[in-house]
Amino acid sequence: MNIKAIFNKTQGEPIIIAGPCSAESEEQVLKTARGLAKQKIDLFRAGIWKPRTRPGSFEGVGRIGLKWLQKVKEETGLKVTTEVANREHVFEALKHDIDVLWLGARTTVNPFSVQEIADAIEGSNIPIMIKNPINPDLKLWLGAIERIYKSGIENIAVIHRGFSHHGDSRFRNVPRWQIPIELKRQFPQLEVICDNSHICGRRDILQEVAQKAMDLDFNGLMTETHPDPDNAWSDSAQQITPETFHELVNNLVLRSTSSNNKSFIETLEHLRSEIDEIDTELINTLGRRMKIADKIGLYKKENNIAILQTTRWNEILDNQIAKGKNVGLSENFMSIILRAIHQESINHQAEIMNNAELEDLKG
Ligand code: PEP
Ligand code: MN
Repeated sequence: MNIKAIFNKTQGEPIIIAGPCSAESEEQVLKTARGLAKQKIDLFRAGIWKPRTRPGSFEGVGRIGLKWLQKVKEETGLKVTTEVANREHVFEALKHDIDVLWLGARTTVNPFSVQEIADAIEGSNIPIMIKNPINPDLKLWLGAIERIYKSGIENIAVIHRGFSHHGDSRFRNVPRWQIPIELKRQFPQLEVICDNSHICGRRDILQEVAQKAMDLDFNGLMTETHPDPDNAWSDSAQQITPETFHELVNNLVLRSTSSNNKSFIETLEHLRSEIDEIDTELINTLGRRMKIADKIGLYKKENNIAILQTTRWNEILDNQIAKGKNVGLSENFMSIILRAIHQESINHQAEIMNNAELEDLKG
């Protein structure tokens, strides 16, 4: 795919998209837009058709909101964007000169919907932003990008808005940064925008997540702004006023991803080669560990003992998590890595129990 940028900002200048979660009234939309126009944002957002988790809550104002977005364009000169989820939304948005469309997380997850939209935009040349699917599935996100690209649209960007999860988290949608990072690695020219509002679900950590996105070299931000956030008809806990948003953008520390300074480059290269060496050591060590696990598997097989002994596993977890703490590794990280290693050992041992040639392993 030869994806082209939508925004084409100069290096080090983030793409800024802001506006209310939902268009509620002409007055609310224009008031927000006036507050943001002063800040020279790149794109004004407002949801017209709202995908709500349960029926009965505000589901968007519908078509009338498109007229309000046209007024925003006329009055402030800002470009505008809204979410589309089906063919009718696309036709209405195109009729009303909406500049950019976005696919929401609940649409990206469904290839039927994505294809319906891809067919509807064919021949229009309208730039499209694609949010990640609600589940952490990079292939599904890629599939949506491919469907839109195949319809002839080249100007595509993606929006990272975090992923649904089970259990406690300080995020509304957990970021799983590795997923958008992998997308960036595969398509370096793709503009990746962080929707800190839907990741956080709350105001107090918006700045932190926005900064993290900048530190990870994301290309921009999409943040929900509302003139009276507490009384917003949707997502009130995460919206901020245009003034607070202005502060958030001003507080961002923008770091360059490259430097011409020779000694900086040399030091960085040196440190990176140390990291590469340590990674190689880690992998060799893991390989050695796995060979021992294989031997244990064989031994258990010969003595007819089950693979998993819970007490032993709890012992490993407790001991190693404590050791990790001593060297500055968090409990969460230790627990993820130990579980992954343990799972790999179990897979090896299961293979041995079920079909390994005993003689091969004994040697
Ligand atoms: C939104 O941007 O208002 C929205 C509904 O987001 P998401 O698709 O990320 O849930
Ligand atoms: Mn929202």
